Amino acid sequence: MTILGNWKMNLAPGAAAELAAALRQALPEQPTVAVGVCPPALSIAAVVDTLSGSPIRIGAQNMHHAESGAYTGEVSAEMVRDAGCTYVLLGHSERRQYAGETDADVAEKVKAALCHRLRPVVCVGETESERDAGTQNEVVGSQVRAALEGVSAADLATVLVAYEPVWAIGTGKTATPEQAQEMHAYIRGVIAALYDFDFAQQVDLLYGGSMNAENAASLLGQPDVDGGLIGGASLKAAAFATIVAAAEASPR
Ligand code: PEP
Repeated sequence: MTILGNWKMNLAPGAAAELAAALRQALPEQPTVAVGVCPPALSIAAVVDTLSGSPIRIGAQNMHHAESGAYTGEVSAEMVRDAGCTYVLLGHSERRQYAGETDADVAEKVKAALCHRLRPVVCVGETESERDAGTQNEVVGSQVRAALEGVSAADLATVLVAYEPVWAIGTGKTATPEQAQEMHAYIRGVIAALYDFDFAQQVDLLYGGSMNAENAASLLGQPDVDGGLIGGASLKAAAFATIVAAAEASPR
């Protein structure tokens, strides 16, 4: 089980360090699940400092696929790793929507992240109209296949996939536990078809989309839901701690 917070474009270094310190207080000293937070790039250093010696890991929200060069405003995998990150979110729907990221971009970033020993968190999910049209499996399946193109079986276990239905992100609308389970089982099947059944079991499949302290237990209780990617609720230490506690109490 893995619980990750996506702080999005919130919290400058001082405020980010304060939330990190509050989380340190609110979370168990040695959580039995993996926990991480993804601050904005400029706040990563402050959070790494504050969480030094704690089991809470840090992630970036994005990176460029190139090693270095004339890409003004971007950060590379090496920089992210060197800054102290373990995870990097890739292909978040807000980046697909506002920065025009494509499946091909995500695939390149996944490979660059793996080269620098970062754990990519590949975000996939259908829009409301795609779900209304009944094409959610097709959409999500092709996002997953594209992102994993060229990823070796040996690297697969370090990859996480976050199923984040676009209609549930920041909207307060959550997928039902049944909808989440259905899609997660489908994604696991897609991965099993690309690799094999045992490899597919090793990939943590996170659910994201308005997960909060109230609904976390029922979502995390589903057999193929291996954790959560939390946006809004990760900005409050108490709510995030409750979600971590729900993950720890999950029978899986
Ligand atoms: C996210 O942005 O990854 C997310 C899940 O956001 P929220 O929890 O606010 O819906």
